Amino acid sequence: MKALVFQGPWEMTVEDRAPRDPSDHEVRVAVIATGICGSDIHGFAGHTGRRHPNQVMGHETVGRIDLLGSKVSGLKVGDLVSINPAMTCGECSNCKKNDHELCDRLRVLGVVPEIDAAFAEFVTVPSENIIPLDPNMNPVHGALIEPLAVGYHALRRGHVSADQNVVVIGGGPIGQAVAIACRRIGVNNVIVSEISPTRSALLMRLGFTVVHPKDLLTEVESTFGRKADTVIDAVGSEATIASSHEVSKRGSTIVFLGMAEPVMSIKSYEFSVAERTLVGSFCYNKDDFSSTAKWIAENPEIGDALIDQISTPEEAPRIFTALARQELDVSKVLVRFS
Ligand SMILES: [Zn+2]
Ligand SMILES: [Zn+2]
Repeated sequence: MKALVFQGPWEMTVEDRAPRDPSDHEVRVAVIATGICGSDIHGFAGHTGRRHPNQVMGHETVGRIDLLGSKVSGLKVGDLVSINPAMTCGECSNCKKNDHELCDRLRVLGVVPEIDAAFAEFVTVPSENIIPLDPNMNPVHGALIEPLAVGYHALRRGHVSADQNVVVIGGGPIGQAVAIACRRIGVNNVIVSEISPTRSALLMRLGFTVVHPKDLLTEVESTFGRKADTVIDAVGSEATIASSHEVSKRGSTIVFLGMAEPVMSIKSYEFSVAERTLVGSFCYNKDDFSSTAKWIAENPEIGDALIDQISTPEEAPRIFTALARQELDVSKVLVRFS
């Protein structure tokens, strides 16, 4: 099978690898398409150390079941499926509370180097990570479930309700996912702050209010008539956390989702005196993922709007390079395998 192999920083090749047979409780999926995530790009450029040489990445995927392990039931060959990349133990206290993203033994497909992931024609995973999809949906939209579930989980973490005024900082794929999740749960008052004209245009096509960060405070005050109840920071830098203080009311919640800067300083009184709550958010639990899979099948216009480009495996190394050099101003590129 064709597989995209990360060879080391800035180097990726298309190789022929043997697909792995499923063990008793595993399923092999023939990949239709896999999305390129910002974390893949950071790993490709060697920024994070979270990707390793000889690794096959890819965690935003959709395909059809190709082969079932001997003890797998309830699934059949040919089923359209996505893969929840969060492989959990099911036994730790966090798994028992449905906080699967906090599993003590969490392994994420496409991140852990020892498991070949979804930038390949076939990927083999535990059957419990298989998410059956509506057979009538546009198959490639299945590759968007993972990032969209990240956005939905962030709103749950912030206890966001429909009557709130929400600011989303950052309009890349994760900020887009947060804005879309706002619409999904009925939040009408949403402002997104984003610098890139291309990303802003995508969000505006979806009907969102998007402003340049320098105009954010003015826009929040004129549109909401007051400051925001909740800010979702999908960038995660010193500048964006400062901006989240500026545009949110006292007593607000700031959901911290971005990973731009590993260390930063914050104005501590903005939390103590102003009684803001800072909440972290990471991945999704199983319910977030499954409910998002159902939701995207019912909202195909969102899926159509989010996919900018579909590439071949052969084109992918060049696209990774262009994305890492920020020469390609797009949001979501999928690599199509069948
Ligand atoms: Zn991702
Ligand atoms: Zn666990």
